Amino acid sequence: MLEGAGARAHPVRRLSELDALDGIVLPGGESTTIHKLAVAFELFEPLRRRIADGLPAFGTCAGMILLADRIEGGIADQETFGGLDMTVRRNAFGRQVDSFEADVEFTAFHGPFHAVFIRAPWVEKVADGVDVLARVASGPAAGRIVAVERGHLLATSFHPEMTGDDRVHRYFVNRVRAAGSA
Ligand code: GLN
Repeated sequence: MLEGAGARAHPVRRLSELDALDGIVLPGGESTTIHKLAVAFELFEPLRRRIADGLPAFGTCAGMILLADRIEGGIADQETFGGLDMTVRRNAFGRQVDSFEADVEFTAFHGPFHAVFIRAPWVEKVADGVDVLARVASGPAAGRIVAVERGHLLATSFHPEMTGDDRVHRYFVNRVRAAGSA
């Protein structure tokens, strides 16, 4: 998805791989495991610092949790990189079987975005300065915040890489480009 949007993509597992990055995607998966692995690979603190220093970051699902300053429903000792002044609720829509797909309206795009939610979080509340980009349009979770941004940070509750629609990735890549030329 990133390469389709004009970026070069590199997996990051080690500290040395952080240096060359102009931006980072924190993917879906399991935020507790990503936290533990980041600590074990001695990436947690360096990446937390780079994000705090302005490295553009895009968090999807578990990645959104990792960019939140505060989480509800985390496990004991679960830490986040933080950066977005908001509270995110883990597994907010229910269990794995409650995973679902829905169209969301994105303020930045024309036309609905078909979003895939997999044991997804939602944003419980945002502080001033965090912009809400998308909410669930209908159903029991109508109105819940599922995409936000602030400055160099972007986060979605859902997995935009699961459909062929690359508008969110393009949006992020363009922001990384803009940050690089600023
Ligand atoms: N439930 C997972 C977590 O808490 C996120 C799921 C996902 O990334 N699809 O980290």
